[in-house]
Amino acid sequence: MKNQFDTKECLYCSGKGYFQLLLGGSETCNCCGGTGKKKE
Ligand SMILES: [Zn+2]
Repeated sequence: MKNQFDTKECLYCSGKGYFQLLLGGSETCNCCGGTGKKKE
């Protein structure tokens, strides 16, 4: 049984691929390179 945790989201950006900046705009997540997926 494998399902809900099969898609490995990046823990830093919660799978978005970017960070929302407080001052406005967004910055690409360096951890996943903007894919939002955790690297193997
Ligand atoms: Zn990320």
